Amino acid sequence: MLQSLHFRFPRQRTRRLLVAFLGLVAALSAGYRTGIVGAAETSSLGYTSWRDASFPVEDFIDYTSPFGYRGSDFHAGLDMAAPEGSYIRSWWAGKVVAVIDDDRCGTGIVIESGNWEHVYCHMEGYAESHGGQRYLIDRYGGIQIAEGQDLPTATRIGRVGMTGRTTGPHLHWGLKYNGEWVDPALVLRAMYAEQSS
Ligand SMILES: [Zn+2]
Repeated sequence: MLQSLHFRFPRQRTRRLLVAFLGLVAALSAGYRTGIVGAAETSSLGYTSWRDASFPVEDFIDYTSPFGYRGSDFHAGLDMAAPEGSYIRSWWAGKVVAVIDDDRCGTGIVIESGNWEHVYCHMEGYAESHGGQRYLIDRYGGIQIAEGQDLPTATRIGRVGMTGRTTGPHLHWGLKYNGEWVDPALVLRAMYAEQSS
């Protein structure tokens, strides 16, 4: 199994997350999208739907590990397998608020779009600083992303790699809404529902 990010949440945080999660499911099933419409509201292009959100990885093969609990560990994202070197695209327009370089996420990036944060892990390349400015650099992929940079939806922001804690090439994709982790599969379903209608 391609496992990557595991967090142990205290009990209180778990309850709040569950409430947020169930609220989102209810909102989705009722077709009433206030819970997740935040991202749409942030679009600089004025869209108010998921129609223009981007699937985050090219050459997608399969979902290899779902969001949620595995025993006492919490997997705070969705694992999406793709061949090493496949391009990753920004799910939504936003600002790069962090370039990650650690032993768990590996090389990664965090983009903020209104109330949402989208996290991308295990990418090719590395973090580098020049003149106080932090960058994600993937020379073979032609990628150079600066912290603080504004990106349109579907920008190629990196490539699928094997950095951090992973046993195979995949994108670990995490989503936070108002600071709480959200199941990315819910958002993908909402996107499909609109984009296929
Ligand atoms: Zn993962």
